[in-house]
Amino acid sequence: MVEINGKGVCGGVAFGPICFYRRGQADTSRHTVADAQAEVQRFEAAKGKAVAQLGALYEKALQEVGEEGAMLFQTHQLMLEDLDYCESITGMITDESVNAEYAVQQAADTFADMFAQMDDAYMQARAADVRDVSARVLGILTGSEGGGIHSDIPVIVAADDLAPSETVQLDKSKILGFITQGGSANSHTAILARTMGIPAVIGAGDALQEAYDGKQAVIDGSAGQAFIEPDAETSARLHKKQDEERGQKALLDQLKGQPNVTKDGQEVMLYANIGSPADLDAVLANDAGGIGLFRSEFLYLESSDYPDEETLFQAYRTVAEKMGGKRVIIRTLDIGADKQAAYFNLPHEENPAMGLRALRICLTRPEIFKTQLRALYRASAFGKVAIMLPMVTSVWEVQESKKLAEEVRAELRAEGVAFAEDVELGIMIETPAAAMISDRLAQEVDFFSVGTNDLTQYTLAVDRQNDTLGRFFDPHHPALLRLLKMTADNAHKHGIWMGICGELGADLDLTETFLSIGVDELSVSPSRILPLRKKVRETEVSGIREGILAGIMA
Ligand code: PEP
Ligand code: MG
Repeated sequence: MVEINGKGVCGGVAFGPICFYRRGQADTSRHTVADAQAEVQRFEAAKGKAVAQLGALYEKALQEVGEEGAMLFQTHQLMLEDLDYCESITGMITDESVNAEYAVQQAADTFADMFAQMDDAYMQARAADVRDVSARVLGILTGSEGGGIHSDIPVIVAADDLAPSETVQLDKSKILGFITQGGSANSHTAILARTMGIPAVIGAGDALQEAYDGKQAVIDGSAGQAFIEPDAETSARLHKKQDEERGQKALLDQLKGQPNVTKDGQEVMLYANIGSPADLDAVLANDAGGIGLFRSEFLYLESSDYPDEETLFQAYRTVAEKMGGKRVIIRTLDIGADKQAAYFNLPHEENPAMGLRALRICLTRPEIFKTQLRALYRASAFGKVAIMLPMVTSVWEVQESKKLAEEVRAELRAEGVAFAEDVELGIMIETPAAAMISDRLAQEVDFFSVGTNDLTQYTLAVDRQNDTLGRFFDPHHPALLRLLKMTADNAHKHGIWMGICGELGADLDLTETFLSIGVDELSVSPSRILPLRKKVRETEVSGIREGILAGIMA
C-alpha cells in the first residue's frame, strides 16, 4: 500500500482504479525523409482520417446540440480540405524532403498567425480553428490523439494538474474522484470538483506517480489522502467512513424543505454555484433556493469557438426553466487569468490576473458582450434571470454595461422578441476598489455578490493559483472581513441586498460572522447547502452580533 497526502478540496470517499489524464503531445521536430512522396501519402491518409473523425463528431453534435452547434465540425472539415493549407504542407514535404509532422506544424503556425493579424474579430478567431484541426492531424500522425481519460469504467482521475477547460470536457459519469500533483484549493478545477460533489485531493506532489495508472486506490477527500492498493485494514476503515458520511448525508437530507432561518428569526438565502446546466441535478437534489452564480464562461471554455447567441440562449433558458421561477443569477463572461480560451486570442500578459479579463474584455469587445446579453435577456422570458458583472473596479464600467444592456433591450423590443422588463442587474465585489466605492456602486445596481476568491487575492496580493503561498492566502484576514462589512453596510444603506458567492461563503467557521454582518445571501457549491442550512438553524445571532462586529473593527 502507498499512502499519498495532499490537500482535500471536496470531501467523500471513493474506491476505484487510478487513471492518468493524457494530453496528446505530438513530436513535431524536423527530420529529413528519404521518400517525400510516401510522406505526402502519410499526410493525405492522416488528413482523410481526421476528416472522417470530424464527420462523426458532426453527426454526434447534430443529435446532441442541433444543427447550429454541429456546424463547427463541418467548418473544420472544410479547413482541412482547403487547397492553400494542404498545398503548403505537401509543397514543404516535397520541396524540402521533411517529415509530415513538421510541415503540418509549420502550416498551422503560418496560417494561425495570418488569421490572428487580420482586423476582423471573426477572422482572428479562425486562428484557433487552424490550430485545432492541425492538432487533430498531428495527433493521428504521431499516435498521440486527444487528451482525456481513456476508460470504459468509472475511475479516479489523476493528473499533474488540470486546466478548467480540461476538467469541463471530462465525461463526468466516469469520474469517481480527482487527485492532482499540483493545484490550489481556490483554482477553478477544485471549484468544479466541489460543484460536482466529487471527492478531490490536490497538491499530492511527486508522491503521485504515473506508475500507479490502472492500480486500485481509495481517495479520502475530507482527509486529503489517497491510498494506492490499500491494505485490508485501510479499506475497511474507509468503507466505514464512507458509510458514516452517507449516514450524515441522510440526516442532512431531512433538512430539505426547511427554511434557512436562525433560532432568533434571521433569514438568509442559500443559493448554489454552477458551471453548466449539467450541474442542475445537484442543485435541485440539495434544495437550493436559487442559483447565486452561474459561471457562464464555462460554456465558452467547453467550446472551440465563440458560442453563438442561440447556443448561449438554450443553456440559459434550460437553467431558468428548470429552476422554475427561482432566481438564477448568471454572471457574464469571466474569461482571462486561469480561464483561457485559445480562440479569444488574448495577447500574452505578464500578469493575466490583473490583465484583460472578464468585464474588461466585454467592454473592449462589445460585440461578444452584446451577443451574451441578447441571449440572457431572451432567456429572461423563461424564468427569473438576473445578470451579474464580474471584476468591476469603477462606476463607469457599470454605467457603460448598463448602456449596452439598454441597447440590447431596444433591439429585442424592435424585433418583437420577448424578454422580462424587470431583470435585475448586479455586480460582483471582487476588487478592493469595488468594495471601497460600494456606496456609489450600490446606487447603480440591484444587488452585490462578493467574490471572496478574487477579493482575497487582490486585497492580500496573494495569487489564488499559487499553492506554495499556503497560509498567506487567508480569507479570514481582518482586511477581508472589514471590506465585507463595509460592502454590506453600503448595500443596505442604499436598499439593495448583498451576498457572497466565493468559496468563503461555505466556511462554517464564518457563518456567524456573515449573519452578524447581515449578509443576505450565501451562494455555495450544491453539496454545501444543507450543511450550511444546519449551521444557520443552530445559530442565534442576537447574543453574538455586537461582539463579532466589534472584533472585526478592533
Ligand atoms: C470569486 O472570485 O470569488 C468568484 C466567485 O469568482 P471566480 O472564482 O469564478 O473567479
Ligand atoms: Mg472571481
